[in-house]
Amino acid sequence: MRYKTPQQRDRACGPTLDRRRFLQGLLASGVAAALPCGLLAPAPAAAKTIAYEGNYDVFRNACPRNCYDTCSIKTYVKDGVIQFVEGAPESTFTHGGLCVKGYSYTRRPYSPDRIKYPMVQQGRGSGNWKRVSWEEAMGRIADKLLEIQDKDGTMLGLGLTKYSGNFGITNYGVEGMLTSLGYTTRFMGTPCWPAGIDAQNYDMGNMWCNDPEDMVDSRYIILWGGNPAWCSVHSMKYIYEARRRGAKVVVIDPILTQTAAKADVFWQVETSSDGALALGMARHILDKGLVDEPWVRANSVGFDAFADYLRSEVSLEWAAQQSGIPAQQIAEVAEEFAQAKPATIWIGYGMQRHVNGGASVRSIDALVAMTGNVGKVGGGARYGHLQTWGFNYHALLQPRPEGAKGFVGGGALKGDFHFAGDEGAVEYTDRSMNINKIAQEILDAKEPPVRVLWVSCKNPMSQDFDRAKLQRAFDSLELVVTVDQFFNETVKQSDIVLPVTTLFEEWTINASYWHYWVGINEQAIQPMYETKSNIEIAAALSKAMNERRPGSCTFPTEIDTRDWMAREFNSGIYDMLGIKDWEDLRQGPRKARMHPAAWHDLKFATPSGKYEFQSELCAEHGHQALPAYKAPRPAYDKLRVLTPHTKFSIHSQFVNLDWMEDFNPKPFVYLHPATAAQRGIASGDMVRVFNKTGEVRLEAKLTDNVPAGCVLMYEAWFRNNDFNCQYLVDDESSDMGAYKTGAPGVAIHDQFADVARA
Ligand code: SF4
Repeated sequence: MRYKTPQQRDRACGPTLDRRRFLQGLLASGVAAALPCGLLAPAPAAAKTIAYEGNYDVFRNACPRNCYDTCSIKTYVKDGVIQFVEGAPESTFTHGGLCVKGYSYTRRPYSPDRIKYPMVQQGRGSGNWKRVSWEEAMGRIADKLLEIQDKDGTMLGLGLTKYSGNFGITNYGVEGMLTSLGYTTRFMGTPCWPAGIDAQNYDMGNMWCNDPEDMVDSRYIILWGGNPAWCSVHSMKYIYEARRRGAKVVVIDPILTQTAAKADVFWQVETSSDGALALGMARHILDKGLVDEPWVRANSVGFDAFADYLRSEVSLEWAAQQSGIPAQQIAEVAEEFAQAKPATIWIGYGMQRHVNGGASVRSIDALVAMTGNVGKVGGGARYGHLQTWGFNYHALLQPRPEGAKGFVGGGALKGDFHFAGDEGAVEYTDRSMNINKIAQEILDAKEPPVRVLWVSCKNPMSQDFDRAKLQRAFDSLELVVTVDQFFNETVKQSDIVLPVTTLFEEWTINASYWHYWVGINEQAIQPMYETKSNIEIAAALSKAMNERRPGSCTFPTEIDTRDWMAREFNSGIYDMLGIKDWEDLRQGPRKARMHPAAWHDLKFATPSGKYEFQSELCAEHGHQALPAYKAPRPAYDKLRVLTPHTKFSIHSQFVNLDWMEDFNPKPFVYLHPATAAQRGIASGDMVRVFNKTGEVRLEAKLTDNVPAGCVLMYEAWFRNNDFNCQYLVDDESSDMGAYKTGAPGVAIHDQFADVARA
């Protein structure tokens, strides 16, 4: 049943969908232990299944929002209305539980703040929205696209920016939609993790991490620049179990995080000094004769050159000076790490968001390799993987319309994450721009300029860098179309908004970039109001285009989303998951039948086929061949700005839900008491945080979890607060990322500012 009004939905939903039930669910599942008052406790040994009374239709879903955990979800529906969600017990990773964000999913499709219909804003930013029919919305867009086609002779004036709002595989149909319109402008790359991806590709030939469940076998775990107690809660049980079996856990982070609070050793490292610290550890391991010589001789190239570099350029004392960690402590942990086998390092994404981030990841990889811990169960330099993502990406394979013209001489680097379908293109290609410099790229674009921007699965006005410059870029656009679920900051700066389905209202498939489980996402309820999935929107646009100009868009005009999901499977996926048909996944997610240790066969995908301490490819791409030290970005203001994730949100998602406001009602800036005292700031004061890029105003909280010399603000979008930490973050690039993702990353944590009472 499709509910046309909130009242109709509320009548059907009854009293079950309320905050009280949400809080009861959190308590029942133990998630409340992770709320602000307490530290995470170890998970119980067995997955819990809550026995609900009554007859429910049960559906399989998966959390698609760019979280390590990509939880498998069981959704309980009665009379067409979602009553509960729980973690799927079949997945040993999800283990029957979700995080606080996951339990709030029950609210998402029914939120009163949801965008319900296509709407047109009369005056961008005015808030003067008018409901229109799908036909009118798509007609307006089609008219504009045909206008720019006629004016420019090409569709390059249409740009797409899309990222991680929904990683369901079928959503790659958005890229397919643009291909079906002609040659367009694509914002390439990823904001999250590109420097580390390239680093691991130079070292090992691919990014590939061990199964996180094998951390129970680790004897020594270093969590370097990550906070899984907030950002991968399901991984914590393996860390706890490893420690119960005798492993030591070391956390390296500039912030005393919830994960750090649970560690045996916490190093509050000087920000951006991770490479120096890793190299200091490597030098000490070398000096102590603790290198795993048999492994290194058999499986790597360039180690002698690396050892020469360490002896001539690196010392413990230098590493101590750079990192702020005493030399004796570095020596102790280095020795313990080298001697405890298997030992592993989990490399978080925060530490590579620096101008030297790729170089730092290479130095950490080298530590794991020189101790012989690559390719071992319980070992590994863990960063991420895409081994379970081998789907057909069928929706990408649209042909271009006849006569389409594009960018001439398309020799630009595109990387493995290029989804434009240009394979075999001879004469024309799409125009590639850096997703991490979207504002500057739009402002600089000529012949033709970017005239129309399509935004999907992304909230650039909240998440992209240099917010003020981005506003100027948006102001230069002739039409902005945003596809979303809520009236977020980007929707507010759009001309047309199209309401998109939630995970419960569409068919898709979800794989993780961390664990090895894969599941389908069933349509559990009818789409609320007039929402459509991304690929249904593509079909609607194609219909409007072809009605106006037959042949102008090759995307089908009608689609069955279940059928399109089914087309994503292939024999390789079936073999990997041990299934004969995708329908088998309706019984629950499956774990890929892969060896738990990445690189277990020690056949690396590098040019030499071995682990490369010395990478000529890396040198060809303009970096250092060795995992050598690269200096941090010089400070341009008094305090470093750190903008990590909070446990209540993933980027700009979740915090805006009214249920989440109970836990996290507004943003704060966190300051060390000494930093605050120097400026006469007390806890609770309203302050200005300002730098050359912009300014934000918010309430101060004092804590010595944050080092003196830093200000910390969690990135988030609040529905009733215009806080946006990206006002202070410029678009300076990180060192690596262009090789595999098409564009370098962003030095998100190499930002500086000052703070004063407002
Ligand atoms: S946000 Fe992460 S941990 Fe929470 S439900 Fe989604 S995938 Fe699971």
